[in-house]
Amino acid sequence: MSNKKNKQIPFNKPFLTGKEIIYLKESLTSNHWSGDGPFTKKCQQLLQELTEASAVLLTHSCTAALEMSALLLDISTGDEIILPSYAFPSTVNAFILRGACPVFVDIREDTLNLDESKIEEKITAKTKAICLIHYAGIGCEMDPIMELACKYKISVIEDAAQALSAKYKKLALGSIGQLGTLSFHETKNCICGEGGALLINDASLVERAEIIREKGTNRTKFFKGEVDKYTWVDIGSSFLPSDLLAAVLCAQLENIEEIQSKRKKIYQNYFDGLRDLEVKDRLRLPIVPKNVTPNFHMFYIILPSNKDRDTLMAKLQRKGIKAIFHYLPLHLSEMGKRFGYKQGDFFLTEVLSGRILRLPFYNDLSEEDQKYIIETITGLLSGDGC
Ligand SMILES: *Cc1c(COP(=O)(O)O)cnc(C)c1O
Repeated sequence: MSNKKNKQIPFNKPFLTGKEIIYLKESLTSNHWSGDGPFTKKCQQLLQELTEASAVLLTHSCTAALEMSALLLDISTGDEIILPSYAFPSTVNAFILRGACPVFVDIREDTLNLDESKIEEKITAKTKAICLIHYAGIGCEMDPIMELACKYKISVIEDAAQALSAKYKKLALGSIGQLGTLSFHETKNCICGEGGALLINDASLVERAEIIREKGTNRTKFFKGEVDKYTWVDIGSSFLPSDLLAAVLCAQLENIEEIQSKRKKIYQNYFDGLRDLEVKDRLRLPIVPKNVTPNFHMFYIILPSNKDRDTLMAKLQRKGIKAIFHYLPLHLSEMGKRFGYKQGDFFLTEVLSGRILRLPFYNDLSEEDQKYIIETITGLLSGDGC
């Protein structure tokens, strides 16, 4: 008999499609363990087909791809980068490392994405780029953002870490701005432990991106037979993942349809199962604007207050359900304060980050466990006040 008292449902669990071990073994028994081997090439090709980016370069993380973006765009001291405060530290750090100054913008209440209507007022002569996040794999409102970028001649970097295979209108997220970044960290949809990719949509940036990724050398050109020896030609670092990890990723990317269909089902079960509580105003469910196709990266609920969120999170924990909050606003962090930000600067970021709760979400979350999660939440939120 299943003992519900002992049930432990984690927030995330890595998923094997089946081919990972076969490909990893193949890679281990080949003579190519370093970067840019056959599996890296295959992953880049699959990602290019999926996103239609001009070029795709595999990296060892999304953080690395963001750092490459800052290098490629020549971000330097005094430049300003517009980005949401409701974000991951990597997103901002990539630019701070080059000496730039973060200019935060509040988020939209419906998608928790950067509010495109608040960008223009932040643009100055120093603005170099807008770096946005497609939160939960739900696309930002890209048309007005690209129009602004064009009008003021600034770059757009899409942090699409959570957004592989999601779309804005007909376009893959990550393929719309000059640059896009993906993550294959264990918590994302397609995974290899640690991994990422840079999507280059401006063809004029491809050659230099290859150099920056290869320690500032023209090694890539050398392997293509375009130069007869390689040498130090620019700044750069080592941003390549081992081909062993690319082997794991390759198995995941080949099975993206299976992964996506599992996630869609889990998302839909949560949505249908918790809809009643939304009707009763006990929580709010994710909102997907009509222009976008989501990728079911996560499922969150928004509670009426911070206290409601923390209480529910603690009660779920006691029942063996690991539900967690997400970003702490960057403008309220120790680093954010050093840049002069303070409490009250971004109302929706502050309120919503305190009310969001992410529910367990992984490809082989069983129907039984999901039912238990939905019933437990329903039980905890249905009480008095009806
Ligand atoms: C996961 C994530 C990152 C970091 O990805 P890594 O591959 O771990 O470096 C960056 N930005 C966003 C929005 C993320 O969700």
